[in-house]
Amino acid sequence: MNRFGYHRAENLEDALRALNKPGARAIAGGTNLVDLMKYEVERPALLIDISRLPLAAIDEIEGGGLRLGALASNADTAHDPRVAERYPLLASAILAGASAQLRNAATNGGNLLQRTRCYYFYDVGAPACNKRDPGSGCGAIGGVNRIHAILGASDACIATHPSDMCVALAALDAQVVVQSAKNGERRIAFADFHRLPGDTPEHDHNLEAGDLITAIELPPCDFGPHHTYLKLRDRQSYAFALVSCAVGLQIEHGTVRRARIALGGVAHKPWRDPAAENLLEGAAPTEATFATAADALLEGARGQGANDFKIPLAYRAIVRALSQAAAGTPQQQAVKSIN
Ligand code: SF4
Repeated sequence: MNRFGYHRAENLEDALRALNKPGARAIAGGTNLVDLMKYEVERPALLIDISRLPLAAIDEIEGGGLRLGALASNADTAHDPRVAERYPLLASAILAGASAQLRNAATNGGNLLQRTRCYYFYDVGAPACNKRDPGSGCGAIGGVNRIHAILGASDACIATHPSDMCVALAALDAQVVVQSAKNGERRIAFADFHRLPGDTPEHDHNLEAGDLITAIELPPCDFGPHHTYLKLRDRQSYAFALVSCAVGLQIEHGTVRRARIALGGVAHKPWRDPAAENLLEGAAPTEATFATAADALLEGARGQGANDFKIPLAYRAIVRALSQAAAGTPQQQAVKSIN
């Protein structure tokens, strides 16, 4: 590991000021950043310890939503009674990720900023990785790419985003609250937070230098029991998704009024397609309708060889998740840890 400076932020203003220093990075749970530093994939010059800032509360928002503090742990968030009762889709997605120990340490802000688990990205001995070393090429294209993207990839990068929590946040139309010394506070719609790789895969998200995530805001949720988070992976516990699917449906009198579908494990960001969701709205929740939506969501999907299987797997996952959501998910099942 390289030498680095350390500064414990006294308060939010102190943290925002310090984040403007060259090579500064915020650290809280450190569950991904410390690994990346040990592997020498990331070499921050200065770590700003934000773990003692008062950003761990989960509060009501006027109008009915919830504000999740950036420093609330993933575990505390999933087990908060208001999250479990009003946003069981989010609780179940969080509990499908990592391990109990990691969820206790990992924070909500850090979950959004975790980096791809592409093997080439972590292996500094591998010469080609545009995300780690811009302009060096992509070892995964034509290489070992079983876990890689089938949607939204580019000739520069085919990595996937690893988070489960973010897939649910995309389906819930969350907003990310960000502060910086330069711009004050602003909100970023979740769909606009992460980026597709394009020709600059070194950038995972649309934060600017000096930005700090302070909270995630959830609007009121009207899915009732009609939600599910389906995660398909190589083993039942402590594994990243090959394909995951977060679904929320508002169903009235046998008709879908509102539909949200987000896919994980298939793209550089949680994948949504409003056109596919629109196909469901006003329709009966039948398998035929769900198949049409799955076709639309996967339009343009392209395998890289070893991950070709993800296309039919994603199709089946979408249809199954929509069917499960339409049937209704019992509350106790939604918030049960499956790790
Ligand atoms: Fe690097 Fe992206 Fe290629 Fe993986 S897929 S080797 S992260 S450029």
